[in-house]
Parts: sequence; structure tokens; C-alpha cells
Amino acid sequence: MNRIDPDLAATLREPAELVARGLVPPGALSDLEKVAARYAVAVTPDIAGLIDAKDPNDPIARQFIPSAEELVATPGESADPIGDHRHSPVAGIVHRYPDRVLFKLVHVCAVYCRFCFRREMVGPGKESALSDSAYSSALDYIRRHSEIWEVILTGVDPLMLSPRRLAEIMADLAAIEHVRIIRIHTRVPVADPSRLNAEMVAALKVSGAATWVALHANHARELTEEARAACARLIDAGIPMVSQSVLLCGVNDSVEALEQLMRALVACRIKPYYLHHGDLAPGTAHLRTTLARGQELMRKLRGRLSGLCQVEYVLDIPGGHGKSPVGPNYLQAEDSFAREREPREETRYRVTDYCGDVHLYPPKP
Ligand code: SF4
Repeated sequence: MNRIDPDLAATLREPAELVARGLVPPGALSDLEKVAARYAVAVTPDIAGLIDAKDPNDPIARQFIPSAEELVATPGESADPIGDHRHSPVAGIVHRYPDRVLFKLVHVCAVYCRFCFRREMVGPGKESALSDSAYSSALDYIRRHSEIWEVILTGVDPLMLSPRRLAEIMADLAAIEHVRIIRIHTRVPVADPSRLNAEMVAALKVSGAATWVALHANHARELTEEARAACARLIDAGIPMVSQSVLLCGVNDSVEALEQLMRALVACRIKPYYLHHGDLAPGTAHLRTTLARGQELMRKLRGRLSGLCQVEYVLDIPGGHGKSPVGPNYLQAEDSFAREREPREETRYRVTDYCGDVHLYPPKP
């Protein structure tokens, strides 16, 4: 039913292919075969072409080329780090917040990110795509729950479906009166931009609901000319785009890298939306920063970038408790004043500006 349309014959999927392409040294082969036996590997031609094999710290390689560090599990990591399972009333649906659901259609991606929060569930040999009957049950669940205003097609990557199948799914969802927004989470515009052709764009447009596309991109170099053209095809067709990025050690954990990424996104007419703190997925500790580092970076970005380029730094609370903003706090009630105030009297606040200087804001008289 959920037919995948693989036009990715040249995708590198085996560690030996990565060695042959010069993307990893031959001495790493045996460790990487152990990693690949557990976690899917896929590096598309577009992504392989972006990697600077001479740079041992290349930020693109770090995202997609497997590493022996993935064999190291650390405390707190979990196969289901954001608790999808406990919020899944029927197969394919995650209903964590009242007004929206995740609709997980397929379990494959064009590329496999080494920090993937669903890495235990994605790729060949893991869960398969939804069967026809599971798809019908999931759709029935959405129909029966009139509070569902937004359906987020994710999965893994819904743009791995054929345009024909996607058009059918979009039409099924748009026919449900209370579903007004269909959001698609994808990495395809950067991983395989030619896949986002006119037929695919047409499939995403549907009458009766607004389509939004959220692009997953973590480094400005991912926004190649081809990727920018793919995004422009969507936006020119009237489909607005937002971004999702993950804060990653050695990829974008510097103020310069984040600044370049956010500026590149906005220049592509993509509004920066979420910067995710790395999830506690197994074998990903080497790619996670600390929350303190994330807050420091966000504080520095505040003065360097316009509001249009600002992104919200969020943490998916382990166990399925949802996302919380974890960016720095710029406003604090002034304690000494608060102690003196009368009950019900508005307090005075300390407000921190983008340079780190603190100013007082008066109470309402
Ligand atoms: S694109 Fe998303 S779902 Fe696919 S491997 Fe990367 S992080 Fe995981």
C-alpha cells in the first residue's frame, strides 16, 4: 500500500562502499560493519558529494557516516527516547498533544542520520510500512477525534512515498472536515533534491487543508543550489516552509555555524522553527552537547540575528512528556523588590539584553 519509490540506486549503504568511495579509512571497516549491523546506513549521491573526505571533522560526514562511537551506550539512552510508544493509540498514530497527531506512514529515509531519535525503528529490517488495514484504522482514528486540527506526516520520511500515493493520502486527510493543516517532515530536499519534482509538489497541494513542509537541515552547506531550488519549487507553489535542526557536537555547535544556517534558511524563505537538543537515542552521546552549551549559543545568537532568523531551542522531555523550550530566560522577577511588595501588587523585573546587561522594568502602577 505505502509504496516507496526508490530512485536511489547510487546510495551508499554498506561500509565497504564508504571505504571504496574514500569516505572512511579501510582500517575502520570492521567496526563500521558492527555499527551497520545495528543501525541503517544510507548516504545519497547528493550528500556524498557534499562531504570533504580530506577533513576528519567534516560536519556533513559527521551527520551521515557511521562511527564506532555509536557502539557505546550511555546511561539514560533509550530505544524510544521521546516516548512515542506510550502515546500511540493505534499503529501509525502518535497522539501526544490534543490538537495534533503524528501519522507515521513509512519507516525509511533517503539518508540515515547518525543521531536519529528513531534509529531503533527505521531502515531495512526494522518495522515495515503501514499495511492497508493499519492505514485505514489510523485514518478512522483521526476521523473519530474531532479535536485533531493538524496531522504531521512523518515516519520516517513521507517524501519517500511515490507522488501518486502521497496525493491519495493528502486527499484522504483533507477530506476530514476538522483536519485543517497537513505538515510534512522531510530531509529529502537536502538529501535527494531532484526527488522533489513538479509531480511531487503537485501531490502535496490539496484543497480543503493547508500544507506546510518542515525541512530538517543542520548545516548551511546542506542548502546547495539543488536543495535551494527544490525548496523554491515548494514555496513558489504556495507551500510555506519551516525548519527543524538538531544541535550537534562538531556539526553546528558554534555560533558561527548556527548563524550561517539560520541566515541560509531565511534566504531560502524558510522560517527557522525548532533547534532540537539531541535526543537520548542509543549510541549518540558523542553528538550531543550539554544544555548549558545550547543556552549559551542561543544567547549569543540573539544579538547577531534578526527576529526572523531566531529559532526556538527545545528539548523533547524523555519519556514522552512533549517538547519544552529550554532557551535562556531573559526575564526574572526582582527578588528583593518582590519581598517588599503588597499582595497582588505587580513585581519589578530584571530584563537581560542581548549584550548580557541587566535592566529593571517597573511594576504596573
Ligand atoms: S531524516 Fe529524520 S527520521 Fe530520517 S534518519 Fe534522519 S533524523 Fe531519523
